Amino acid sequence: ALKAGIVGLPNVGKSTLFNAITQAGAESANYPFCTIDPNVGVVEVPDERLEGLAKIVTPNRIVPTAFEFIDIAGIVKGASKGEGLGNKFLSHIREVDAIVHVVRCFQDENITHVSGKVDPISDIETINLELILADVDSVDRKIERSRKNLKGGDKKVAQEVETLEKVKEALYNDKPARSLDLTDEEKLLIRDLHLLTMKPVLYAANVSEAEVANSDDNPYVQKVREYAAAENAEVVPISAKVEAEIAELEGEDKAMFLEELGLQESGLGRLIKAAYKLLGLYTYFTAGVQEVRAWTIRKGMKAPQAAGVIHTDFERGFIRAEVVGYEDLTNSGSMNAAKEKGLLRLEGKEYVVQDGDVMHFRFNV
Ligand code: GDP
Repeated sequence: ALKAGIVGLPNVGKSTLFNAITQAGAESANYPFCTIDPNVGVVEVPDERLEGLAKIVTPNRIVPTAFEFIDIAGIVKGASKGEGLGNKFLSHIREVDAIVHVVRCFQDENITHVSGKVDPISDIETINLELILADVDSVDRKIERSRKNLKGGDKKVAQEVETLEKVKEALYNDKPARSLDLTDEEKLLIRDLHLLTMKPVLYAANVSEAEVANSDDNPYVQKVREYAAAENAEVVPISAKVEAEIAELEGEDKAMFLEELGLQESGLGRLIKAAYKLLGLYTYFTAGVQEVRAWTIRKGMKAPQAAGVIHTDFERGFIRAEVVGYEDLTNSGSMNAAKEKGLLRLEGKEYVVQDGDVMHFRFNV
């Protein structure tokens, strides 16, 4: 399963946010691929299109797609040199597909700040520096190894070294690797290094309860937005404390509480959607009377691999897929109407699945 890791300095609200996530979290019974681990929370991805499809097929149940949030506690200054949980912490980050970096934007005299005052940019830089230092190590070692192979005159190795040098320069200037506009080809060349600063990042700006409705008035949030823009990262303002309270409520109570706060949607919903987008994922749907369900794939996946997300048998025995786009289906009003209009297509093994495709697979068992 895809994973987003939650990182941040101590006392910024990580645990509070993570607890809200696990409280609100999905039953992992629906998601057998998800890990059962106290540091892992399964979240369902809100998607209006599920309701749209349910109107058409009136299924017994609706199952959203899900991914995992991992609580990566323990980063402190010096982690890259083995301080605190050090290397263990960094190896956890290496395993995630995206990073949610929680930064403190709330003032509260009762809650100690590790560096003495609220300063989200300095907090971000402290953690980013540790990740950059770890990457410097990886890149330096790789360059050394690849240089030895250069003598063979392999063009690909030469390109690789060139790309590594580019990354190295950015890192030495305290810039994360993702701030470089590398081509897909260059990214591929350095992919197996699993650089920490290459991973997509989203900053969760933790604001106080009083500020949730107007979080962009908070000057710290504005600073985080400026900082994030410069390194191709996103920002989601959120109040971890409020989210923890919302997670305890259900139905009407929840709706009322959100209204009192002047919110349309819980911050967690926004955070989950933003993280899903950050992971670079597509959603396709299956729609039957039993269930309407969303499935997650990576961009560019072909029909058999997409079918394999449901079950490996579907991939192995794949024959073809009946496909209709979400808009085409809902505009037509029914599967039959879409078929009559010629909008239901038969696709084979080479079909690249699109976001919003409604799929029905034919396969041999
Ligand atoms: P962590 O060390 O990053 O996991 O931080 P915690 O989630 O344990 O939070 C540290 C302290 O800050 C706890 O006492 C929280 O209740 C408090 N806290 C977290 N978010 C907020 C917030 O939005 N406002 C206020 N006033 N306190 C918060």
